[in-house]
Amino acid sequence: MIQHDILIIGAGLAGLRAAFEGVTAGLNTAVVSKIHPLRSHSCAAQGGVNAAINPKDDWHHHAYDTVKGADFIGDQDSIDLMCAEAPQAVLDIDAMGCPFSREEDGTIAQRAFGGQNFPRTAYAADRTGHAMLHTLWEQAIKYGVKVYDEYFLMSLTTDQPKGQKMPRASGAVILNIRDGSLHQINAKAVCLATGGYGRLFANNTNAMTNTGDGVAHAMRAGAPAADLEFVQFHPTGLKSSGILISEGVRGEGAYLIDKTGHRFMQKYAPNKLELASRDVVSRAMTTEVLKGNGVDGAVFLDVRHLGRDLILERLPQIRQLAIDFEGVDPIDEPIPVRPTCHYTMGGIRTDKTGQSIGVQGMFAAGEAACVSVHGANRLGANSLLETIVFGKITGKAMVEYVKGPGHFRPHSSTASLAEVSQAITTLKARPSKGATKQAHIRDELTKAMQEYCSVFRTAKTLAAAKKAVEKAKADYAKLAVDDKSDAFNTDVITALELGNLILLAEATVLTAIERTESRGAHAREDYPTRNDKKWMTHITAVATPKGEIKLGRDAVRQTGNPQYAPAERKY
Ligand SMILES: Cc1cc2nc3c(=O)[nH]c(=O)nc-3n(C[C@H](O)[C@H](O)[C@H](O)COP(=O)(O)OP(=O)(O)OC[C@H]3O[C@@H](n4cnc5c(N)ncnc54)[C@H](O)[C@@H]3O)c2cc1C
Repeated sequence: MIQHDILIIGAGLAGLRAAFEGVTAGLNTAVVSKIHPLRSHSCAAQGGVNAAINPKDDWHHHAYDTVKGADFIGDQDSIDLMCAEAPQAVLDIDAMGCPFSREEDGTIAQRAFGGQNFPRTAYAADRTGHAMLHTLWEQAIKYGVKVYDEYFLMSLTTDQPKGQKMPRASGAVILNIRDGSLHQINAKAVCLATGGYGRLFANNTNAMTNTGDGVAHAMRAGAPAADLEFVQFHPTGLKSSGILISEGVRGEGAYLIDKTGHRFMQKYAPNKLELASRDVVSRAMTTEVLKGNGVDGAVFLDVRHLGRDLILERLPQIRQLAIDFEGVDPIDEPIPVRPTCHYTMGGIRTDKTGQSIGVQGMFAAGEAACVSVHGANRLGANSLLETIVFGKITGKAMVEYVKGPGHFRPHSSTASLAEVSQAITTLKARPSKGATKQAHIRDELTKAMQEYCSVFRTAKTLAAAKKAVEKAKADYAKLAVDDKSDAFNTDVITALELGNLILLAEATVLTAIERTESRGAHAREDYPTRNDKKWMTHITAVATPKGEIKLGRDAVRQTGNPQYAPAERKY
């Protein structure tokens, strides 16, 4: 049996930042990743990371922008903590060697991002996540974090301490993708840092690997998830592929125009224009397209007026993406764009130190967590920030938990390993002839989610989404794989990911049906206004042993700050 003090599933920014705390506190710390850590989706982040580091800025303003961006349903204790800790978190990673872009005087350069009253987004050209992830990876190597790379999370194990109500995290079963062998790891504290699940929607900006495995497994292990109904559609995905064109482009001054060249945001957000919050801009674009003012389902992002030199210096990657994937050079032509699924606000529900509210010793950080700093709508560049602030805080909380008094080494049963092994044997044994192909199930599910559960929703469209999820569930129960081998069996891996996506699809649709109001990214055309009397609460979701979704409620953590009282959101 393998034993670690701290086991972190996920080696993106959140996982590696938490691991740094564990290993530098002298604890035996391990990280599991289904791909090489440097291929984690964090590496794709372009635009930047928010922090009130400029002396003219104030973290209280950052916190207010975040509370408002979240449409007042974010947890105010977490938001205050994140914004107050942001400058130090950015300076920490700067000191580790992260190559941030600089001003002439050597200070860290910052650009404007949507929904904020100050240009507080620090960046490394338009490859910020790449720069940050490489920096933290170097630290992981330097301090000797044990890395299980190309190992896949199969299940989370728990035990039941005597006299306690809550189950306790005891480790995980993982599969070595290279040879198909299974391993049980025991650990005193377990952290899920497995990222988001934007792959649930046909058109998205996410890596192939963003399938929400950690969130789904936590829900199965009894840890509630929350805010799953809130899914962010980024305004500017490339029309054909959904590949992201960073908000940093609008931060640099890009316009959104319709087919006649008109800057339509003047109508929807007269003050902030293109830099209103993402939910507002995505709805405006979708409305314009529905009115017939787009071309082929898209409107245009125009940077021509910024000039060749600025584009080449500050936006080299997005120029290349537009050329390679849309056949358009932004120096000469506007880029066709449309809203695309980008970020999942929902995740494993935690307190402000990252500990699950349902399983003792289970922690979550980054996009997989719902410490609820984003509420109903995330502000651009607050997610990289969340990974480094709450990666650090959660890492420290795990160290404290592991070193804390009265903590016993968890049991070492191998029951879970046997169950997982049986499940794989059963899957491989099913005859593939005549079975529905997993690619077909995934295709139908993600297209239905895109059509019925995206920027605008109604009871009717959500009922159609529910039907599609039920069909996917029924088909999945009979799923067979063609590849029966052990080494690098991607047929099995993608089938397991699909199982996790289906669970999250069901929970997303059920919570979207439940919330009969419009708030942030959740826009119900049949309930067009926000209803603070009834809905200032998080909806939670957990999976029963039979795989059904059970909904609950969890209070929004309010600090009593009168400035945070819900108000109408205008930009
Ligand atoms: C294209 C793009 C651009 C973005 N730009 C910005 C930006 O400019 N600013 C900003 O603030 N945010 C941005 N975001 C959002 C932000 O990048 C992510 O929310 C954040 O990086 C997530 O980090 P993470 O550490 O939580 O997870 P990830 O970086 O997604 O890492 C997840 C890790 O979990 C592992 N994992 C997952 N499932 C399993 C499993 N079953 N078994 C083992 N390991 C597993 C993966 O291997 C990976 O190591 C962007 C997102 C995208 C998609």
